[in-house]
Amino acid sequence: MTKKIQTDVLIIGSGPAGYTAAIYAARANLKPHLVSGLEPGGQLTITTDVENYPGFGDVIQGPWLMEQMKEQALKVGTEFHNDIVNKVSFEKNPFYAETDSGKEFTAKSVIIATGAQARWLNLESENKFKGFGISACATCDGFFFKNQNIIVVGGGNSAVEEALFLTNFASKVTLVHRRDKLRAEKILQQRLLNHKKIDVIWDHVVEEFIGSDEPLSLKEIKLKNVNNKSEKIIKATGAFIAIGHDPATSLFKNKIKMDTENYIITKPDSTETNVKGVYAAGDVKDKIFRQAVTAAGLGCMAALEAEKYIAENY
Ligand code: NAP
Repeated sequence: MTKKIQTDVLIIGSGPAGYTAAIYAARANLKPHLVSGLEPGGQLTITTDVENYPGFGDVIQGPWLMEQMKEQALKVGTEFHNDIVNKVSFEKNPFYAETDSGKEFTAKSVIIATGAQARWLNLESENKFKGFGISACATCDGFFFKNQNIIVVGGGNSAVEEALFLTNFASKVTLVHRRDKLRAEKILQQRLLNHKKIDVIWDHVVEEFIGSDEPLSLKEIKLKNVNNKSEKIIKATGAFIAIGHDPATSLFKNKIKMDTENYIITKPDSTETNVKGVYAAGDVKDKIFRQAVTAAGLGCMAALEAEKYIAENY
């Protein structure tokens, strides 16, 4: 049965950006509705230890942090929908959105906070050691790999930046790339190739992550040469997969301006998209920082901008 809901602010997505937008919008008395999406809580629900979210003296767990954000958003007056938005229309205001369960929203403003997902190699052994030696975020997890041998997979800016950053902790970093040329900017390439702690293995892909079951931990990585198909095993207790991210923006194709990599474009120093009243916050528009705290900051900005937009237009 269709349920029609009118709201000042519709928030799509439930990561740090979405929940922070909800907290600010609710406290501005805008009674926001938040639709959680496919993975309620976002990327932090698939991480373990979080040490870099300010405000916590002790290590906290990603899923717990997202539960707290949800609770805070609900306590201040957010209406939460465990549902998936499958259609939007931004052609006229109020905007329109439909969900899988048949809810129809009309909203004076919309905050898109659908996030992005790290690309993975999609190996069975990768799934096994995710969070137990394998990560897709050096800024988040590098600290846990002090004095260890680690690998970084990829050849773009992220892979090279992550490899350089990880030299602050690791005893040795090996970049594994599937070609014989990096895609990263030249200046980053130079820094990487000149770094004493970094080796590069060209023309190789990961075949398998190998480790122990108790405790679950990574020990070795089997690599395959893409040219002659020969295999070799290297010792490493950490692996960072840096082969790109995919922003969750397919729903907004041809409705909102995006860049060539499908990240939503926002105005400088703002979260406003090319449609007035529609804002984008978090990893769905940020391919540089991708941190929970920066996503939360952008969520706050989006709510404040939505509040101003509604005050000026209604
Ligand atoms: P990217 O530029 O798309 O690079 C992905 C890398 O991963 C490529 O080298 C690619 O290899 C490799 N790769 C992809 N799939 C693979 C697979 N299945 N197995 C093995 N290797 C695979 O992604 P990114 O580095 O995350 O950067 C994304 C965007 O953010 C870019 O526009 C980048 O410039 C930007 N960025 C900017 C900064 C900065 O300005 N400081 C920092 C980070 C990112 P091939 O080269 O063979 O395709």
